[in-house]
Amino acid sequence: MKAEILAVGTELLMGQIANTNAQYISSRLPEIGIGVYFHSVVGDNAERLKQIFKLALSRSEVIILTGGLGPTQDDITKETVSAVLGRRLVPDQASLDDIEDFFRKRGRKMTKNNLKQACLPEGCTIVRNSAGTAPGCIIEDSGKTIVLLPGPPSEMKPMFEETVMPYLAAKSDCRLESVYLRIFGIGESAVEDEIMDLIDGQTNPTIASYAKDGEVMIRITAMHPKDSTGTDIIRPVAHEIKRRLGDAVFSDDGSSLEEVAARLLMEKKMTVSFAESCTGGLLAARLTDIPGISAVFDRAAVTYSNRSKMEQLCVRKETLDRYGAVSEQTACEMALGIRNISGTDLGISVTGIAGPGGGTDKKPVGLVYTALAHRDGVTVKRLDLWGNRERIRNVTCLHVFDMIRRHLMVSGGM
Ligand code: ATP
Repeated sequence: MKAEILAVGTELLMGQIANTNAQYISSRLPEIGIGVYFHSVVGDNAERLKQIFKLALSRSEVIILTGGLGPTQDDITKETVSAVLGRRLVPDQASLDDIEDFFRKRGRKMTKNNLKQACLPEGCTIVRNSAGTAPGCIIEDSGKTIVLLPGPPSEMKPMFEETVMPYLAAKSDCRLESVYLRIFGIGESAVEDEIMDLIDGQTNPTIASYAKDGEVMIRITAMHPKDSTGTDIIRPVAHEIKRRLGDAVFSDDGSSLEEVAARLLMEKKMTVSFAESCTGGLLAARLTDIPGISAVFDRAAVTYSNRSKMEQLCVRKETLDRYGAVSEQTACEMALGIRNISGTDLGISVTGIAGPGGGTDKKPVGLVYTALAHRDGVTVKRLDLWGNRERIRNVTCLHVFDMIRRHLMVSGGM
């Protein structure tokens, strides 16, 4: 089934609010085998809403409208949709009772214009609204399903989940199931190159790759009848992609790189500490987002200045004078220093130039060194990153978590 989402509201067109309703609904429908083909936004204008609604009727089987169900004059969705479909708006006693109840419970007085909200297109299925006053509705008309929901996400979401999803799921006879392979260490075009023949030949499952926040994601989506699962369709393709990309694939269950690194640290009972310069505590913040990490994470020292690197990590003055704070040598001494001081199995350091200022020809913005001190010595890596300060710091963190992951996979620890 083809669906289309139509968001009504001048605020959306003015850029005052983002169309998160469309995003939310779009993220939910594939699960029940319904593909979303169009998103449209229209202001509170009956003529333009009429135009776009007629267009939607001509090309989609399911049309979901959000917004404009309120009690005021500029709330015109129900009226406009009903006019296009040639249906009258009729009062619904149960909806009126709900609205009265809503005001009574809050000790507020219902105004006359709220009565408008209890009038619904004749012949519709009513979608009750327990979080607000505007009921929604579902209209079946000439083979099309039209769903009207209020704009506020706090009202729209429960109505969508409790009533609309089950209603549409019963109509759709297939389901979509997706698996996401997450990849780090290979660029998007190289990934695409590796799997181009699979992408070209795709029918079911479909395969798509895209770059996201420094990593690459491959989505494998299977369409399957609603009484079976998509696992058998997805598994051989996922297996083949993993075979080709090897250990660059770090997760197939939605886990992030830090979650994978944290899981390995916990499984192998390896403790870790950080010495952070340009990431300023970001590594520690991201790792400590993970519940249970206290079993393996000891500390992070944010050592931004040269003095703090010397005082807290015992980096030598000669090293800083000779090679600079952003250098392989300093990174190694920082990692060895934090490992010594904390007594952890792994000591990891980061030193670099996140920009926008501070770069030189020899040491440009985006140059970062990260080192990992372990039982047998220290491994250092030079990164040449691009982008703004935020991206450089975030991608640096990904490299560190990937370094931990690879170290623990290869050496089994220590
Ligand atoms: P109400 O019952 O509050 O009158 P309504 O159905 O008339 O709701 P609107 O008046 O169009 O909805 O929007 C009310 C509020 O809902 C907006 O101010 C905005 O905060 C939120 N909203 C509306 N549309 C969207 C959307 N597409 N995405 C996210 N939020 C939205």
